[in-house]
Amino acid sequence: MSRRVVALAGGVGGAKLVHGLANLLGENLSVIVNTGDDFEHVGLSICPDIDTVLYTLGGIANRVQGWGIEGESWSFLDQLGRLGGPDWFRLGDRDLAMHVLRTMGLARGERLTDIVARFAARLGIEAVILPMADEPVRTMVLSGDGELPFQDYFVRLRCEIPVSGFRLAGIEMASVTPEILTTMRHPDLDTILICPSNPFVSVEPILSVPGMRTELERVPVIAISPIIAGQAVKGPAAKMMRELDMPATAFAVAKRYAGLADGFVIDHADAEQAPAIEALGMKVLVTDALMRDEADRIRLARETLDFARSLRHG
Ligand code: GDP
Ligand code: CA
Repeated sequence: MSRRVVALAGGVGGAKLVHGLANLLGENLSVIVNTGDDFEHVGLSICPDIDTVLYTLGGIANRVQGWGIEGESWSFLDQLGRLGGPDWFRLGDRDLAMHVLRTMGLARGERLTDIVARFAARLGIEAVILPMADEPVRTMVLSGDGELPFQDYFVRLRCEIPVSGFRLAGIEMASVTPEILTTMRHPDLDTILICPSNPFVSVEPILSVPGMRTELERVPVIAISPIIAGQAVKGPAAKMMRELDMPATAFAVAKRYAGLADGFVIDHADAEQAPAIEALGMKVLVTDALMRDEADRIRLARETLDFARSLRHG
């Protein structure tokens, strides 16, 4: 059966579920990836979330680290530091190839969508990987009286400052790409998944691309909680929620997706929140939402797709 599925994803959490989905769906999966994390560094255009998805689906991701390429070497970074260059953002020798080719492509005036499609083909990826927009969007982290670019907050400062909000620089100039429109309006599209990605800095930028939200109204939308038992599995999502005066709970994530998602997937640890989430107008699937290994990724992907099917058939 050729049911087509779209997944909205950030980096690590998104890529884990996307990996499971790709196993089940192959070319019938399209992934719309956050580009709010993208930045320019040492003269290169870097797209951390897209690269994590590409490396994961290409089977070359470093599973332990959660980002980058397995078996990576660091000669470039060592020498960069030795010469006094900025070495806080870790660029591996192999990883560099993608950044160089992308920078060259963009300098020639190519669209990010086309560049990413070429990388995906070269890496043998069947799923369609789509940047959320071709225009640059840059997530700025607000803290105290100032703001700083996302990678400065995330990597250089290791999320050690409190956040008070976010600004998506350039979002008003961004637009849904023709490829995303075609995917979202495909007659065989039957489910849109919001991956267990960071709600603020991975999912929100995607949903904020002008015109994106209306594309999510045609088919059931299912979101998977990135928060399990009051904690993020990885990264600053729970910390951000507390700093933004929200409880770090699956329910609080569900609340952000109220009116948008038809179903919400939570872990057994949060089962007691199911009635409150259902009261927001969503069906709830309670399962093991932690993806420890490849089998878990495929299992959670299958359970989520079955859940989506049950919503469609009432
Ligand atoms: P980033 O762009 O690399 O930060 O990655 P994402 O935004 O896609 O994912 C980050 C989120 O993934 C964090 O909030 C984690 O809690 C969540 N996450 C990571 N692994 C898992 C998992 O196995 N299960 C669930 N439910 N969430 C996960
Ligand atoms: Ca990210």
